[in-house]
Amino acid sequence: MIRTREQARTGANTILAQIGNTPLLDLSDFAKAQGVVPSVGVFAKAEWANPGGSIKARAALRMVEEAESDGRLTPGKIIIDSSSGNTGIALALIGAVKGYEVHLVMPANVSAERKALVKAYGARLIESDPLEGSDGAIHVVREWVAAAPQRYFYTNQYNNPANWLAHYTGTGPEIWRQTGGSVTHFVAGLGTTGTFVGTGRYLKERNPAVELVAVQPEDELSVIEGLKHLETAIVPGIYDAALPDQFLGIAAEDAWATTRALARQAGLFVGISAGAAVHAAIEVAHTLRAGTVVTILPDDGSKYVSLGLFE
Ligand code: PMP
Repeated sequence: MIRTREQARTGANTILAQIGNTPLLDLSDFAKAQGVVPSVGVFAKAEWANPGGSIKARAALRMVEEAESDGRLTPGKIIIDSSSGNTGIALALIGAVKGYEVHLVMPANVSAERKALVKAYGARLIESDPLEGSDGAIHVVREWVAAAPQRYFYTNQYNNPANWLAHYTGTGPEIWRQTGGSVTHFVAGLGTTGTFVGTGRYLKERNPAVELVAVQPEDELSVIEGLKHLETAIVPGIYDAALPDQFLGIAAEDAWATTRALARQAGLFVGISAGAAVHAAIEVAHTLRAGTVVTILPDDGSKYVSLGLFE
């Protein structure tokens, strides 16, 4: 079912209109229980509230709609991307609403729930070599697009400015407004780096004193789904090395432990990168006597159950 470009573009009154404007949750009690002083607030954006269940809906929608308006994406073209999962899920959902076929290349070892979700929205899943991880999936997409460039729109989220712009015009202003401009520290994981770069750039422009803390797995061997270890991965083209004031490397065990604690002590059933982000936010909060630390909960826990995360 292919719709006209005009119908596809507006998305008014569809599920797509519900992307963004997520709640900012107060985690200060959770932080206090871990020894953070009461004069430091810790807050987090509930990004699973987006359609498709993750923060990536923001970037995916912006990448698709910019391509529609400048003619890179026209009816009949196939949307293709590599994705650790959430961008794929978001693109599959957006493709379903707008009437585009969606092809997704993912490492074969991504969780069963992720594969099932993209298929549920009608996308075609292509599995790449699990040993080559997300970089291997990127290589497969590039080969396919090079072989038939007119057939595909490659969202290319690692190099597409629409990715970080979604956060520069969405996530960043929302945090500014929801904290009444009182945010002092922004803590976020690095995947494509869109969230960190777009939100961080906006907040720094509003107040250059805002500290930007980038969160990564502590080394090459620590796996935190959704996050990259930049020193050993392909550095995304949209990444801006001048932005972070500080890096925090988080051990996978700490990310898992905080993820479990968030469910049991705060009623927040979130993914592992959210656990890593909150762990880092609390580490930052411990160093402060006053301030407002804001972090991101990129998705909920449902895609990680089969990993044994909550057992
Ligand atoms: N957490 C999860 C669960 C993700 O899927 C992603 C996206 N790869 C991120 C964090 C990182 O977000 P970004 O791509 O904007 O850096």
